[in-house]
Order: sequence, then structure tokens, then C-alpha cells
Amino acid sequence: MITVGITGGIGSGKSTVASIWDSLSAKVVYADDLAKHLMQTDPDLKNKLSETFGMETYNSDGSLNKPHLIKEAFHKNRVEELNSIVHPAIRIEAISCIKRAKKKGYKLFAYEAAILLNEGRPEYLDVVLLVSSKRETRLERVSERDSVDISDVEARMAKQPDFSSLEHLVDYTIENDGTLEELKVKSVNLYHELIGNP
Ligand code: ATP
Repeated sequence: MITVGITGGIGSGKSTVASIWDSLSAKVVYADDLAKHLMQTDPDLKNKLSETFGMETYNSDGSLNKPHLIKEAFHKNRVEELNSIVHPAIRIEAISCIKRAKKKGYKLFAYEAAILLNEGRPEYLDVVLLVSSKRETRLERVSERDSVDISDVEARMAKQPDFSSLEHLVDYTIENDGTLEELKVKSVNLYHELIGNP
């Protein structure tokens, strides 16, 4: 089984590539989903988050108090602190997912994550794919997808890494400035190349 990280800036088309690979029988895991799941269920992580962001981080029934965490992390510029707590737990869970996928006989495991290369290249990935698209295109696509103003997307974009400075960590790049059909063809071709079935 080959393990592939799919990364790229907001609105580049990472999730779209991941969903195309999913339809081709890859095992696809989304880092955002892992993070949400772990923040609700991992006792160590929950303790660390409560110690760092206050006991109000969890409601009395144990569920995550999202508005509180968003206020503490995003409105008080503590996102890096949040990431430094959550990412080690995500890494461990990603490795467990890879082991399970391998046992189940998948040919390709894809891990979709916007934050993937900040601390170098994860050792559990064989291949890193960068999905890239022009800034203006991404702004328009996300503004339409999320029904938000372009300025909101710009603010989210400003908090992301500059992917052009991370290209030395990348094995493949899919340019996604054309149509969805073009993206599909590129994604399908790369999938077959990666599983050794061109
Ligand atoms: P995020 O970082 O916000 O999760 P993402 O990189 O996963 O974004 P997608 O959600 O895959 O990006 O794509 C953003 C939006 O652009 C989606 O609505 C998607 O359907 C659309 N999109 C992606 N590629 C194309 C394309 N080639 N042509 C038209 N629309 C596209």
C-alpha cells in the first residue's frame, strides 16, 4: 500500500482530489475529521486542551465547547498553540489509520491535510501531492462554496503557509486552474500511476 499526503492552500481542490480517489477505492482520511473526532474523544488531548484554554473548553456533558475554543484560539492569536497540542495526537491517529487500511488490503491511503508540511515531511507518507490553483480562482471558489465574502476567504488564506516555499517537500503537483473534468482526468491518471497500474 502506498501512503499519499494531499495538501494545498484553501480552495486549491484538495478535498475534490481526495473524493475522486475515494471513488476509485482509495482509503481517504481527512485531517480535519480526525482533529474533530479526537478533540471529542481522546482523554489526554481533552485534558491538555482544558489546561491550556480553560475548563470551559468542554461542556458539562463532555462535549467540545466550540465557540469558546474558537474565541480563545482564533480570536486571541493562539492557533499555533492549539496546533501544537492537537497535531501530535492527529499524527498518532493517522499512523493507526494507515495500519488499519493496510490490513484491509487498500492499495492507496490518502491523507488530506492543509497543514502537512509545517514541520517537514511526515515520515509515514511515501508521497506528497500538492494541489495548486491561482489565488484569484481559490478566492472565488471558496467564497461561492462557503457563501462568504472574498475578504473572509482572504483572512483565512493569510493564516496559511506559503506553499511555494514548501515545494521541495512535494513529489507531485496537480495544477487545478481548469475545469472539474480536467481535475478529474489528472487525479485519475495520477492514482493509477501511484498504484502502479498506469
Ligand atoms: P479547503 O482548504 O477550504 O478545505 P480544498 O482545497 O479542499 O479547500 P475543495 O473544497 O476541493 O478545496 O474545492 C473548493 C471549491 O472549488 C469546491 O466547491 C469545489 O467543488 C470547487 N472546485 C474545485 N476544483 C474545481 C474546478 N477545477 N473547477 C470548478 N470548481 C472547482
